[in-house]
Amino acid sequence: MTQTKNPTTKKKTHPLNMPTAVWTGHDLLGGKPVDSLTIIFCTTGCYWGMGEGCTMCGYVNDSADSTPSDDDLLAQFDRAASKSTPQTSLLKIFTSGSFFDEHEISTQARTRILETIGEMGSVKKVVAETRPEFVTEKKLADTLAVLDRYDIRFEIAMGLETSNDTIRKDCINKGFTFDDFVRASQTAAKTGVSTKAYLLLKPPFLSEKMAVDDMLSSISDTVPHASTISLNLCNVQNGTLVEELHNHRDYRPPWLWSAVSILKTAKEMFPHITFMSDPVAAGSNRGPHNCRECDKEVAQVLRDFSLSQDLDVLSDVDCQCYSLWEKVMELEDNAYGSYLVK
Ligand code: SF4
Ligand SMILES: [Zn+2]
Repeated sequence: MTQTKNPTTKKKTHPLNMPTAVWTGHDLLGGKPVDSLTIIFCTTGCYWGMGEGCTMCGYVNDSADSTPSDDDLLAQFDRAASKSTPQTSLLKIFTSGSFFDEHEISTQARTRILETIGEMGSVKKVVAETRPEFVTEKKLADTLAVLDRYDIRFEIAMGLETSNDTIRKDCINKGFTFDDFVRASQTAAKTGVSTKAYLLLKPPFLSEKMAVDDMLSSISDTVPHASTISLNLCNVQNGTLVEELHNHRDYRPPWLWSAVSILKTAKEMFPHITFMSDPVAAGSNRGPHNCRECDKEVAQVLRDFSLSQDLDVLSDVDCQCYSLWEKVMELEDNAYGSYLVK
């Protein structure tokens, strides 16, 4: 099944010289927590999202109404950089699309942005998100030609979502294959660039247990091709197929216990890999949740684990709803596609 665009998509008007979002936080770098800055550029948006789009993605609502000029993009970066501190070591770049798509960010703008990052003086690593089809040796070489001058490491981040091509196509409509991801990761590795993979826990049309099993097999398949794996917990975004399903009670976001369980197993199996999870909208009806009583605490445990990689953190939380989650895992496969507990 493929997605037809939801007619209720709500696109906001946005000044071209303002980033969509920017925030400071903490991330792991070389095994230690450091200050990070995340910027989401406002560009013309993801070409895939403008067409068929992914079933869970509402980012097309964040894209610009007209094409930002190179100067607009630089102005967006300057506004974002003003939030950095002298300790900001990690810079994460998103565009609600692909940093390497020329239609979103031209080669000239990309080069100028990278030079400005270098001139900040504090940044040690840049992570930029892109779809795999835009990862070429030329673009990586152009990027490294700038960043190497400032001794800054580079990582590409790709939304692989799952290693299962059937689930990626039929449940997510992502528009690329696992082999495409592997090819991009290998191209990056050839130039010394590392890969971060985003996996999606519980796209639509999967029971809780199928979703957990999909993440565990995806992690095993992805480990040879990524040094960091980020577990994204699906949430309900405006104007998406997932929202339509959710409105008809045909979709429930994942349990936070599922993420705890996946990260525990994954870290035990692959201690050398960095596993992250920052659950968006946790505890709300449209976000990943447990029983509501423990949501805040369990979501914080996932964030604490992401910064420490300490398995004990994941064992240090409990709630009476844990046994309910175990029952859901056992029985939901027999519920003919309905979820058992809201
Ligand atoms: S999830 Fe990524 S690839 Fe899919 S439509 Fe959204 S921005 Fe584009
Ligand atoms: Zn609970």
